Amino acid sequence: MNTVNEFPFDTRGILVAGRWRPAASGAELELLNPSDGQRLAPIARGQAEDVAAAVDAAQAALDGPWGAMSALERGRVLHAMGLRVLAMADELARLEALDVGKPLRQGRADAVALARYLEFYGGAADKVMGQTIPFANGYTAFSWREPHGVTAHIVPWNYPMQIIGRSVGAALAMGNACVLKPAEEACLTALAFARIAEESGLPSGALNVVPGLGEEAGAALAAHPGVRHISFTGSVEVGALIQAAAARHAVPVTLELGGKSPQIVFDDADLDAALPFLVNAGIQNAGQTCSAASRILVQQGVYRQVRERMAERYRALRVAPALDDGDVGPLISARQRQQVNRCLARAHHDGLPVAASATLPSSLPAGGFYVAPTLVADVPPEHPIAQDEIFGPVQALIPFTDEADALRIANGTAYGLVAGVWTRDGSRGLRMARRLRCGQVFINNYGAGGGIELPFGGVKLSGHGREKGFDALYGFSALKTVAIKHD
Ligand code: NAD
Repeated sequence: MNTVNEFPFDTRGILVAGRWRPAASGAELELLNPSDGQRLAPIARGQAEDVAAAVDAAQAALDGPWGAMSALERGRVLHAMGLRVLAMADELARLEALDVGKPLRQGRADAVALARYLEFYGGAADKVMGQTIPFANGYTAFSWREPHGVTAHIVPWNYPMQIIGRSVGAALAMGNACVLKPAEEACLTALAFARIAEESGLPSGALNVVPGLGEEAGAALAAHPGVRHISFTGSVEVGALIQAAAARHAVPVTLELGGKSPQIVFDDADLDAALPFLVNAGIQNAGQTCSAASRILVQQGVYRQVRERMAERYRALRVAPALDDGDVGPLISARQRQQVNRCLARAHHDGLPVAASATLPSSLPAGGFYVAPTLVADVPPEHPIAQDEIFGPVQALIPFTDEADALRIANGTAYGLVAGVWTRDGSRGLRMARRLRCGQVFINNYGAGGGIELPFGGVKLSGHGREKGFDALYGFSALKTVAIKHD
C-alpha cells in the first residue's frame, strides 16, 4: 500500500527489468485531480538515465525468455492480461476518473476496450503469416514477419488505457519488447497496467514503464539508438520532433496527431439516429478525443432543425466531477482549459452565435478544470474554431449547400483523421467515403463503438501509420525475405 496516498500501489515507481524503483535522480512530479485541482499522487520524474536502463532491459528481455517465447505463448499471456483487466475494470475506471477526470462510465468503457485489445492481439499473435513468392526457376522464396526489437510508446493523457492497448498490445503480440512513457498529467492506469502484466506472467523486461516529462523522458526515449520503432499519440508539434528524432536512426514511426473531424448531415439523414452521435462525439471525454467530431456540417434543409435539437441536448448535459459520473467531467488541466477558453473568446469576439451551452452547477469544486460544453452555430469554414483542434467540449455547426460544398468544407482543414456521413442515399455515402481525405469514414454511425478491429490513423497533419485491427501487427514488425537456390 502506498504510504503517500490511498492507491493500492506505490505511484512513484519506474518499472525496469521487472523491478519497481524510484527515478535514478530521486526526482518526482505531482499528479493533480482535474475534478478539484487538488494534489492526487506523486509520480517518478524519469530521465535519460532511467530511459537508457529501460531500453537495456527491453533488449535483455528480447535476448532472454521473452524473445524465446513462441507466438502461441505470447498470445496466451496477452489473453491472461485481458482477463485480469476485465476483472479490474471498476478499479481501473476509478483510477482514470481521479487521474484524467473522466466520468466513471467512460473510464470503464476504456478498461473494457483495453481488455478487448489484449484479447484481439492475443488471438492474432500466432496468425501472422508470411508468403511464398513465385520467383525464378531454381529458387524457393518466402517471407515472414519479425519484431522490430525494442519499441517506444509515448502516450498522451486523454485515453491512456485505449492507447496502451492498441500500441503496446500489438507490439507485444508481435514479440517486441516495450518501453512505455505515459503522460506526466495522467499515468496511474499505465502503472496499474504494468502490474497486471507482471501478475499475468509477462516476462520481466518485456514491458518497462518510465513516467516523466515529455522533454526529458520522452525526448530521451525518442532519441535512444536502441529503440527500433516509435509509436506516438499527441500533438502535431511533438509529433514532428519525434519523427525528426527517429530519422536520425532511420527508425519507423507511427504518428497519431489528432484531427478536426466532421460529421456530415444530409437533408435525407435519419436525424433521430444521428442526434446522439452528433453530440456524444463532441463531448465524450470533455471533447479531449483525437477523433472528436468537432465540426458538424449540416445541409441547409435540416440545419435549423439539427441546431435546435442539438441545442436541446446541450442544455440537458450534466457536468460533474468524474466520480459523480455525469455526462461531462473536467478538462485535464488548467492549461487545457485556458486553451479552450481562448478559442471560445475568439468565437465570441468574432460574433459567432452560441446555439447552446450546458450549465456549470455552482456545486462544482472551485479548483476543478471545468468548461461549459458549448455549441457554436453558423461557423464560417475558415474560422479558427472550424480549423484548429480545440480539444475541449466545443462543436462548430457549419451549414452547407450540396455534396460538393460538403466535401470542400470537410476536406478543408490541415487534418484528416475520421469523418461521419449521415444519409439514406447509399450511393452518396460511398461517393463521400471515396472523396473524403481521412483515415476512417463512418456511414450512418460514428466510431463504430470503438471498433478495435478497424485500422485507425490519419492522413495530412493527423499523422501516418495505422494502429488497431490486424494492420497494426504489420506496423510493429519488419518483413524478412528468404530466397533459396536449389536444383
Ligand atoms: P503532447 O504532444 O505534448 O504530449 C503527448 C505525449 O508526448 C506525452 O506523453 C508527453 O510527455 C510526450 N512529449 C511531450 N514533449 C515531448 C518531446 N519533446 N519528446 C518526446 N515526447 C514528448 O500533448 P499535450 O501537451 O499533452 O497536449 C497538447 C495538445 O495536443 C492538445 O491540446 C491536443 O490538441 C493535442 N493532443 C492530441 C492527442 C491525440 O489523441 N491525438 C492527445 C493529447 C493531446
